[in-house]
Amino acid sequence: MKDISEIRADFPILSRKVYDKPLIYLDNGATTQKPLCVLDAVRDVYIRYNGNIHRGVHAMSDMTSEAYENAREIVRSFINASQREEIIFTSGTTGSINSIAFSFGERYVKEGDEILVSNLEHHANIVPWQMMCERKRAKLKVIPVNDNGEIIFDEYLKLLSPRTKIVAVTQVSNALGTIVPVNDIIKAAHSRNIPVLVDGAQGIQHGTTDVALMDCDFYAFSGHKIYGPTGIGVLYGKEKWLRELPPWQGGGDMVDKVTFEKTTYNELPFKFEAGTMNYAGAIGLGKALDYVSGIGREEIALRERQLLEYANNRLSGIKGLKIFGNSPDKIATISFLLDGIHQYDTGMILDKLGIAVRTGTHCAQPVMERFGIEGTVRVSMCFYNTFDEIDALGTGIEKVIQMFS
Ligand code: PMP
Repeated sequence: MKDISEIRADFPILSRKVYDKPLIYLDNGATTQKPLCVLDAVRDVYIRYNGNIHRGVHAMSDMTSEAYENAREIVRSFINASQREEIIFTSGTTGSINSIAFSFGERYVKEGDEILVSNLEHHANIVPWQMMCERKRAKLKVIPVNDNGEIIFDEYLKLLSPRTKIVAVTQVSNALGTIVPVNDIIKAAHSRNIPVLVDGAQGIQHGTTDVALMDCDFYAFSGHKIYGPTGIGVLYGKEKWLRELPPWQGGGDMVDKVTFEKTTYNELPFKFEAGTMNYAGAIGLGKALDYVSGIGREEIALRERQLLEYANNRLSGIKGLKIFGNSPDKIATISFLLDGIHQYDTGMILDKLGIAVRTGTHCAQPVMERFGIEGTVRVSMCFYNTFDEIDALGTGIEKVIQMFS
């Protein structure tokens, strides 16, 4: 792995100051910073070869189309999908899940059917299913979690029923950092012929994701959480499903032949890519994935485990600090509360010290309710963070406690 100072030099924003203090960016679960190579790749599109994709006969359109399709290939290889037809570009995880919830619901879900999600889910993996359940008069069932913030597997098995049409679970909890045993969840669902969608928004950037090994039917992630641009994301779907599912949007590029009587659809993956896509974003995402591969995904996972261990040691020594989410299988995220101090106050004071953390419910209100709290302070680290930054966080938290004592 590159030296940490070399890595940080790849991310110009990390050397900025806020309130005249060096920025300590610990909100990577919300969005990650971007390396220069990603910014250059996006800039390059607009400076050198911008042309709308798949449309023109001219050189510019050809070059952009080639770069876009090359990005699709990078994504395919990054997640080890077997074919490029299984990679659909979307606006992000939310876009991917909404599209599947709509399309899958239209094709397969009937009154009285059941959709299974977990208590850990981000709203993006709850609300689209709820909306579909309302349309189809289906029921949303919820896998409970234990006090450590882990899915209760036996309860999951009990909830799988002949009426379960799909299971939708997160790979990693954004609120608590728990790594969910998605492989086991998928095996159990598949043994009953139930497909599984995995929300990879917090999983893809922390180690290696292999959709072939995982055997998920659908996988969704966002570019901006893996050092890529905003407004671009991916939906992976097994070819057999994508062939059967109806498109969720109509428009240009997704059609084969259009008459007023009937429209036939384009081949995969274009059937699901209506209108002008965010091709510059896709090209930037391809570059981000190449950057991550260049650093090394195993190396990233190892470094983040070291950061987590260091932060756990530092923070658990602080009196009055309670951590939510204590699974031994966690990404480098720590959600906590300070005794008698509101999470917003903690977050605001840390901010004034140049330390960016997230406060609130983290778009996961049901899991906050499970723990009987209104929210937490969330520290989400990634490989460009340093042990010094964690020390500064520890000192900052002690300052907050002092101010309130
Ligand atoms: N799922 C999880 C687990 C997330 O953490 C997030 C983002 N916080 C989303 C879905 C939604 O991602 P996006 O806003 O990029 O669509």
